[in-house]
Amino acid sequence: MRVSRLMLVTLRDVPAEAEITSHQLLLRGGFIRRVGSGIYAYLPMMWKVLQRITLIIREEMNRAGALETLLPQLHPSELWQRSGRWQGYTAGEGIMFHMEDRQGRELGLGPTHEEVITSLAGELLRSYRQLPVNLYQVQTKFRDEIRPRFGLMRGREFIMKDAYSFHADETDLQATYSVMDRAYRRIFERCGLDAVSVDADSGAIGGAASQEFMVTADAGEDLILISDDGAYAANQEKAVSLADAVAPLSPAPLTCLETPGQTTIEGLCSTQDWKPGQVVKVLLLLAVLEDGHEQPVLVSLRGDQELNDVKLVNTVSRRTEQGVLDCRPISPDDLQRQGINSIPLGFIGPDLSDEVLASASSWTSSFLRLADTTATELEQFHCGANTEDQHRSHCSWRDLGGAPESEDLRKARAGERCVHNPDTRLQEKRGIEVGHIFQLGRKYSQALDCCFTNEKGRDEPFWMGCYGIGVSRLAQAAVEQHHDDTGIRWPAAIAPYEAIVVIANFQDEAQKRLGETVYSMLQQTGIDVLLDDRRERAGVKFKDADLIGIPWRLVIGRDAADGTVELVQRSNREMRKMPHGEAIDELLQVLRP
Ligand code: ATP
Ligand code: MG
Repeated sequence: MRVSRLMLVTLRDVPAEAEITSHQLLLRGGFIRRVGSGIYAYLPMMWKVLQRITLIIREEMNRAGALETLLPQLHPSELWQRSGRWQGYTAGEGIMFHMEDRQGRELGLGPTHEEVITSLAGELLRSYRQLPVNLYQVQTKFRDEIRPRFGLMRGREFIMKDAYSFHADETDLQATYSVMDRAYRRIFERCGLDAVSVDADSGAIGGAASQEFMVTADAGEDLILISDDGAYAANQEKAVSLADAVAPLSPAPLTCLETPGQTTIEGLCSTQDWKPGQVVKVLLLLAVLEDGHEQPVLVSLRGDQELNDVKLVNTVSRRTEQGVLDCRPISPDDLQRQGINSIPLGFIGPDLSDEVLASASSWTSSFLRLADTTATELEQFHCGANTEDQHRSHCSWRDLGGAPESEDLRKARAGERCVHNPDTRLQEKRGIEVGHIFQLGRKYSQALDCCFTNEKGRDEPFWMGCYGIGVSRLAQAAVEQHHDDTGIRWPAAIAPYEAIVVIANFQDEAQKRLGETVYSMLQQTGIDVLLDDRRERAGVKFKDADLIGIPWRLVIGRDAADGTVELVQRSNREMRKMPHGEAIDELLQVLRP
């Protein structure tokens, strides 16, 4: 391909809309253009990158025994109503774009395809003899993200590879899950990415295994915790650790203290000379449940710990046996709106009476009481007295009528000791989630009543797995991991072109002739090559070549008359002069070993 025909528009300045390097480089290199918030056009070079990634994914999915298919993007609402997800995905902070057709029927634009594929499987797979089946597709997904950002990293329209497997039993699901795990590792490695697999949250279903694949990069939106010995890695949403020990209080009688205005742990501890780890703090939250109930929640946590929102939502869901649409702190305004005036925010203890909810206009009239293990383990502690400007010191759970059941609700943090080996500690890194594999179990097959006939002739819901890769996010993650201050350094396997021939001075006949010769020789060997034939200054062409990041560059310059070229490797900028025939041989050796 000739650069003069490539519609290449590169930008010298960093576009204001782009915060992270990979987004800036893709815009500057003429790979993508923004069309709207979270909506991007993939320009021809980007499309080549995406197709090369897709090809690698396709090869590995086929090798893993999966079948390619293509499902509709328009989803009738009834399907999502049957699974119980329509409301959660369309109302409030739901991310599904939805619309009405000319007959007034409701439709959603597919953010994910469990509903569609499960109902198809239910119609087509009638017997255990047809199982297992693993189906995948590569397709545009739509999600009305609350905060679309960072270019292709979090788009509202993006390309995903999603796969769904169907099994007669859990053991068979686990076998396919490990095959997909291995396939994923190969895919990321072949794409030139350094990705780690981490334990991931599997939502409220519990039990089922789930792993995310993270490209480590400072710009990543996820926080991951990895043990020193590398044996444990988890998304912070899911991570567990041993909390630092705190010095126990020396036993003393329970006392009530005046603590005017001391509503924060810091304020309280500095005034009273207490340690945060000796205080039980109580958080007041409101959970909105799928059945419409608004459930007030009291969470007790050791004062030096932070609440993990994901663990909280999962626990609320398990304890109420309901999906949780939202879970957020209760504000003084919320209390006022409910007509509640007897909750002394900042001075709450774990035993705050349910009576304070009696006047609530729409909330459930008793608290769901939860406590993290760090709090329930304390023999004696300080806590709020449920009265304005008062706390209790040297309280025990017995004084409060007993401790709630212990739950893991705290955030694990870097520096803490690991559960698998208390001699190792957790380190933190940032990661970009490029893939997610998940043992779904029977959640969807049960909800949609999709069954097969088992060996004993009885109907049973399928066991299911699902497996996603963010194809467009992966492409940008590759840039985040492979660039320098002059531009992108595409890993060879996914680069838009394998080599670029740059004619330094197109007016020079010898240079022009040799450039054309080298270009056509490379084309004949099947190497995907660009020829920079533009009448631009050499400096401009070199800058552009650096920016767009083609792995190999052949520069045809002053020595063209005697057939000499410069071979430059983009990744390490190594440059060598050699006869053009040798340069072509060398390229063939590295690109077609
Ligand atoms: P996230 O936590 O980043 O919102 P998710 O867990 O909701 O992602 P999945 O439903 O697991 O995403 O989707 C599979 C893959 O699709 C993700 O691992 C990610 O790589 C990619 N992906 C998800 N949302 C987006 C998006 N808005 N833009 C680009 N890629 C996305
Ligand atoms: Mg995910």
